[in-house]
Amino acid sequence: MEKKFFYAQVPPLRCGKDLDNRWKYEIPAYRVAPHVWNVGGQDDVCAYLLDSGEGLILIDTGYEQTLYMLIDRMWRIGFDPKNIKMILLSHWHGDHVNGCRFLKEMSGAEVWLSAVDEEQHQLHKDDNHPQRIVPYTVDHLYDDSKPIELGRFQIHTRLCPGHTPGATSFRFDDTDEETGQTYHCAMHGGLGVFPMMAPETLAKNGQSEEQAHRFVRDCLEMAQWDVDIMLASHLNQGNVLPNIPKDTNDYHVFVAGYAWGDILRNRARAVMDLYPDTYPPRENE
Ligand SMILES: [Zn+2]
Repeated sequence: MEKKFFYAQVPPLRCGKDLDNRWKYEIPAYRVAPHVWNVGGQDDVCAYLLDSGEGLILIDTGYEQTLYMLIDRMWRIGFDPKNIKMILLSHWHGDHVNGCRFLKEMSGAEVWLSAVDEEQHQLHKDDNHPQRIVPYTVDHLYDDSKPIELGRFQIHTRLCPGHTPGATSFRFDDTDEETGQTYHCAMHGGLGVFPMMAPETLAKNGQSEEQAHRFVRDCLEMAQWDVDIMLASHLNQGNVLPNIPKDTNDYHVFVAGYAWGDILRNRARAVMDLYPDTYPPRENE
C-alpha cells in the first residue's frame, strides 16, 4: 500500500520566516473530518475549526500575520468567527497562539492551555524570537481527567511534554450523520523535535533530558491509540499539502488508520537518534 501520510521535510517549517510574504503560502480551507476543517489558510501551521453544533471550537490560531486568512477561510466555508466559544491551544509557541487575542476579543471565546505551558507562556511572553508573543490571557487550564465538552464533541486532552514542557494532545470522536460512520481523531501537541529536544537545547533552557525521554515513551504509547484521522499541527507532519483534495469538502482522503502510529513512531525515533548512548541504533530494531 502506498502511504500518503508520513512525516515529511517539505514544505520547510517556516516558523515565522518570510511572514512578510505570507500570501505566497496560502491554501484553502479544507475539511479533515465530518465536522472539522483546517482554516489556518497557509501551508505551515494548522488551525482546526470544530463545529460542535452549539458553537465553534478552534484548536490553535496560527500567526498574527496570517489571521486575516483564517478569518477569510472561516467565512468562505460558512462560519462566523464571532461564534468561536473555545480556543484550545496545543502549546505556548507564537505560531500557534498569536491569533488568540484578536479572536478572543472578536468572539469572547474562552482560552485554554495546560498549566505547565501557562507557566512557560508567562516566562516567555516578552520573547521576540522567532516571533513575538501577542499578549493574551488564559481562562482555563486543561484537566486531563475531564474531557472538554461542547455540543457533539467530547475532547480528551493529554499532556505530552517534549516540544514544550506543557504540550498537549487532543483526541475526540466525530460522526458523519450521512453515513453513520464515527471516526477517531487526534492531534499531537508538538512533534517538532529539533532543536527542542537536543541535549544542548534542553540544557540551555534549564530543562532536564528526562523531557526528551518522556516524549519518546509517550509517543510509543500514544502510537497504539486507535486513530482514524490524524490532525497534523503543521502540514509537513503529515505530508498533507500534496494530499489536499480538489474537492476541499471531501475529508475521506484523511481517513488513514496507519498515519498516527507511523508518524508518532517516526518522531520517537528522531529523538532516540539524538541520544545514541541511551537508545540502541536503528539496525537492532
Ligand atoms: Zn512549537
